[in-house]
Amino acid sequence: MVIIMRAGASEEQIAEVSYLVEKRGMQIRRIIGEYQSILGIVGDVATLYSEREQLERLDGVENIVRISKPFKLASREFNPVDTIININGVIIGGKDIVVMAGPCSVESREQILETAHIVKDAGAKILRGGAFKPRTSPYSFQGMGEEGLKLLAEASQETGLPVITEVMDHQMLPMIMEYADILQIGARNMQNFTLLRAVGEAGHPVLLKRGMMSTMEELLMSAEYILACGNDKVMLCERGIRTFETYTRNTLDISAIPVLKQLSHLPVIVDPSHATGKWDLVAPTSKASIAAGADGLIIEVHPHPKVALSDGAQSLTPSNFIDLMKDIDCISQAVRRCYERG
Ligand code: PEP
Ligand code: MN
Repeated sequence: MVIIMRAGASEEQIAEVSYLVEKRGMQIRRIIGEYQSILGIVGDVATLYSEREQLERLDGVENIVRISKPFKLASREFNPVDTIININGVIIGGKDIVVMAGPCSVESREQILETAHIVKDAGAKILRGGAFKPRTSPYSFQGMGEEGLKLLAEASQETGLPVITEVMDHQMLPMIMEYADILQIGARNMQNFTLLRAVGEAGHPVLLKRGMMSTMEELLMSAEYILACGNDKVMLCERGIRTFETYTRNTLDISAIPVLKQLSHLPVIVDPSHATGKWDLVAPTSKASIAAGADGLIIEVHPHPKVALSDGAQSLTPSNFIDLMKDIDCISQAVRRCYERG
């Protein structure tokens, strides 16, 4: 349920409504818009419906809207205005397309520093790199751990790029938060509800990846966990889903972009690297994603993909990344989005 206050409603009027709602054991999440405030009610709202008329008569209340979707805080019904997330000055979810780029895994000081400079010069605004890796085989490279986080922080300091890295479980959260500007929740953890609650309480910006066999509604319900814990800095990430197709690593669900944008106010980021698994499919799917309305991309780039310790086959070389960024510039303008290089 959402209570829409009249334009110019006073703080006293809002306080009166909040008092009534909170007295019944529900919580208020307030969205302060340009002209009016919207009060989202969280909790078991069924009892409030019987008092709807009383609520509607309160001074300052314009309208009461029932949210029909199972995800409430994540829905556009709750917040019709796009959520904008500011990561140290990088605005995600606004007019500008934001590209996050870097290696699948941090492998060495030289590798992450070199990649950070390359992607920054090409126009990326956020540096990606895994330090704790969710690998299918326990014998595969598992990441550099905290040493990798320190190297990411050093690369961030040198370039000024904020950093995104994966948090695999809730116990790691305090350590990861020391180094990372955005917490990535991987596809395999999309329904790790303990982790979702923990990042919700932590309040740090989150990139939530769609599970490889999850529906869009399940993705939005997972986002709801984070929002319900009080963290509204959530980005949704389409990274391909598992289908019967074997030519590509996953199947990029392009339709997820407009559907998620219709259903939710949260920014939508696409990962064409994990979606396709093949470097030569990364550019076309990146361009399609921007054209379909994505707010940003997260792309794997490696100075020497052939010797990468993870996901080399889907990693772009620096020169391929630079070429792609030029194309992203053109597509962004064609769909009236901004994209600033360098
Ligand atoms: C990654 O970004 O390196 C990764 C493991 O992604 P996903 O969780 O989408 O597989
Ligand atoms: Mn990867």
